[in-house]
Amino acid sequence: MLKPCSLSFSILAGLLLTQSVAAQDRTTEQGEAAITDPNVECSIYSWPPVAAAVTGGQFPPIWDPVTEVPANDTEGRAKFLAINGSIPNIAPKGTIAGDFSNFTPTYPATDPDCWWTFHQCVTPKVAGLNPDVASVPEPRTLGYGFDDGPNCSHNAFYDYLSARGQQATMFYIGSNVLDWPLEAQRAVADGHQICVHTWSHRYMTAFSNEAAFGELWYTLKAIKLVTGVTPTCWRSRIERKWRRSEDANVDDVEGQEGRDTDVDPAEPGATREVAIAALCRWMRAAMWPPYGDVDDRIRYIAAQLGLETIIWKYDSFDWMVGLNGITEQDVQANYQALIANVSAGTFDTVGAIMLTHELNNFTMQTAMDNYPALVQAFDHVVPIAVALNQTTPYVETNYTFLNFDQYTSNHSAATALNGTNNLTDSSGSSGSSSGTSSGSGSGSSGAAVGLRVPTLGVFGMMVLGLAMM
Ligand SMILES: [Zn+2]
Repeated sequence: MLKPCSLSFSILAGLLLTQSVAAQDRTTEQGEAAITDPNVECSIYSWPPVAAAVTGGQFPPIWDPVTEVPANDTEGRAKFLAINGSIPNIAPKGTIAGDFSNFTPTYPATDPDCWWTFHQCVTPKVAGLNPDVASVPEPRTLGYGFDDGPNCSHNAFYDYLSARGQQATMFYIGSNVLDWPLEAQRAVADGHQICVHTWSHRYMTAFSNEAAFGELWYTLKAIKLVTGVTPTCWRSRIERKWRRSEDANVDDVEGQEGRDTDVDPAEPGATREVAIAALCRWMRAAMWPPYGDVDDRIRYIAAQLGLETIIWKYDSFDWMVGLNGITEQDVQANYQALIANVSAGTFDTVGAIMLTHELNNFTMQTAMDNYPALVQAFDHVVPIAVALNQTTPYVETNYTFLNFDQYTSNHSAATALNGTNNLTDSSGSSGSSSGTSSGSGSGSSGAAVGLRVPTLGVFGMMVLGLAMM
């Protein structure tokens, strides 16, 4: 593998310039990360390790809800059977499409299952389960994270974060990871934290024990295959239909969610493959918008897989623009409300987590638009693992994060606000990662974090200009 940090500036500069005009490399993380045209980013490619695993029957059909952990998955099957007998005896709720209308009328008001969807319960009632992480312990700190990736056109967004030495926690959907493996690898290369966001992005409390286990298990396996790391955190879709009365008709209009059109299927010049890929993603988003839910049964299954449940207290509603009357101005107002809470002292003792998405160009652009204000308002903006002082965020202990004090002392406010555009700044803005990941699919190491920083100076504005449609 290329070790770019050992290259001299002149060689590196030459390499970068060459990359800008050479044919696109769709075979490596670095090559994929250098692509600046969202049409190219989102055209389908095949990565051999994923193709082999899928052909070999190692995964459920991509984007289909998991139904079983079959006998040919001996490891998964054994693991499931080992815990199945101890899973809390809580019946599945509603449907995996998110219809709880036949369930909630008879569900006790006491919320015996600690069903977050019902009353935002975060303190389990089943003994032995840890409370959900809904805030971060560090005062005036934002635990920064994004759901639903990896998005195929995220290069401009990830370039933006890299240029500012900023890492975040990325909640990845297993099916997206297998669709866009090189994009998932970029998260590790850039020093972001990866957490699990289920296999098919359906409603977790509706699944059987085995299916719920599979939704998490196969996402863990996909992330391990592709990036070499095994996450220790997860987040479910959050269904708000029952949380806010004004959202009661959300499901009636969710089919209108068409914002996942990073590449407009009808855009002139789009290749047939790009158009098909974009259409497929649009259809997925339309059918399965980013809600979610969790109860003690699902928490238990997740905990048995070593997954800490991460939730939030603030919602940007960025995914919901165009639905139920939510506008772009509403999303901006939600960001402003979070920022106003910092000034008001809301986070003077405990920091914040806000729900934001890598779902489409609007959500990513809005994140970039608001990043400077977040950095100025909060004392610190850090990945959730860093805010929790979790220095080994993966099962693989050879991959470590900086602790909170190290991360924040290494994180230049000037860099965060202005970005970097020369090589000399790269050392000061390197990410929180160190060490390497060792899986079969890993083409990345902590050292790569610093590399992509100077590339923004060369390509960054072009990337942003191209991608911000
Ligand atoms: Zn989601």
